[in-house]
Amino acid sequence: MTLTIGILEGDDIGLEVVPECVKVMKQAASRTKLDIDWQPVPIARKAHELLGHTVPPGTLERLQSLDGWLLGPIGHREYPKGDPTWVNAHPLFRLHFGLYANYKPFVSYPNLPSLHKDIDLLFLRETTEGFKVDGNLFKGYGEFMPVQGMAIGICVTTELKSRLIAEAAFEAARLRPRRKVTAVHKNTVYRYGDELFAQECRKVAAKNPDIAFEEVIVDTFAMRLVMKPQQYDVIVTTNLYGDILTDEAAGLIGGLGLAPGLNASERIAMGQATHGSAPDIAGKDIANPYAMIMSGKMLLEWLGTKRNEPKAHEAAVLIESAMRKVIAESRHLTRDLGGNAGTREMGDAVARAIEA
Ligand code: NAD
Repeated sequence: MTLTIGILEGDDIGLEVVPECVKVMKQAASRTKLDIDWQPVPIARKAHELLGHTVPPGTLERLQSLDGWLLGPIGHREYPKGDPTWVNAHPLFRLHFGLYANYKPFVSYPNLPSLHKDIDLLFLRETTEGFKVDGNLFKGYGEFMPVQGMAIGICVTTELKSRLIAEAAFEAARLRPRRKVTAVHKNTVYRYGDELFAQECRKVAAKNPDIAFEEVIVDTFAMRLVMKPQQYDVIVTTNLYGDILTDEAAGLIGGLGLAPGLNASERIAMGQATHGSAPDIAGKDIANPYAMIMSGKMLLEWLGTKRNEPKAHEAAVLIESAMRKVIAESRHLTRDLGGNAGTREMGDAVARAIEA
């Protein structure tokens, strides 16, 4: 089987970390004889320079024909406002392809500075609904300003997406040793939307009695996460809570450079790190490639399961153990991890560890 994977570099440090991710994935694919057809797809500033649009015509159709893709960070805050040729690809892709499940793992390493030891968390954040629906795409809801001095935000929650994200959480928990799901919401105040979300989580929990289930109100959860993160395993939550809590989780393990992610629907998936395009360090060969490389590993795991391709699983295992080795040796780590290696040097070290 040949897997077709798109390479979408994004902006700023995306141009540095995405090539490292591809290099490492190619190495793992070659070791496991996994056949990948790599398809570079121009987007973001580079695409605007070449083709006059950050998401040139035909991009969505091209992505539709792939098994999945890697998306580098998009520096959209710096894009000109009000110009329809400067579009943030990220929410567009999530909504167009219905990428409702955002998987975000957070793991602490014994030799890296972190606020707590032994953290191993997986967040499942719903990413097509909630308070973060993009108002430009979903005209009529999202956020708008009916009169100067007053903004109104609308929060969308459906039974379907709540059930789907809860099912994804239980499916993920079944593969982990602790087998526990924590649903995070605030149904005490948001008695319609958050209660709907909670009800769907309870229904899915009832069908999975072998997996422990609990519900925690979001503010209590935010405090407990800081005080004793080890008590949690898989956390399922809505879009906005997930957005905030996952940055908190990244802070617990040593920063955004260690926070990979995957956005998935049932059919297609996009590997994407949590961090932004970091223009402050772009072009200096100092960005940490960990998050992007591990996002590529997550894409391979997902493809291994959904396309029933054991070699993709094997390639993902190789990347994970090579990364663990490089981190444990501490010789080729970037500055944010306490080392002085460059982006390429760290990527090369992971690729070499796979070869070995
Ligand atoms: P950011 O995540 O880019 O950077 C925050 C801080 O973390 C910076 O000090 C940066 O140097 C550091 N950092 C981030 N990634 C790192 C890495 N891999 N290695 C080492 N250090 C790293 O957030 P920001 O500065 O608020 O945003 C910059 C741009 O990115 C903006 O245009 C913003 O809109 C965009 N953004 C995009 C995404 C995305 O595409 N998913 C997410 C967040 C922000």
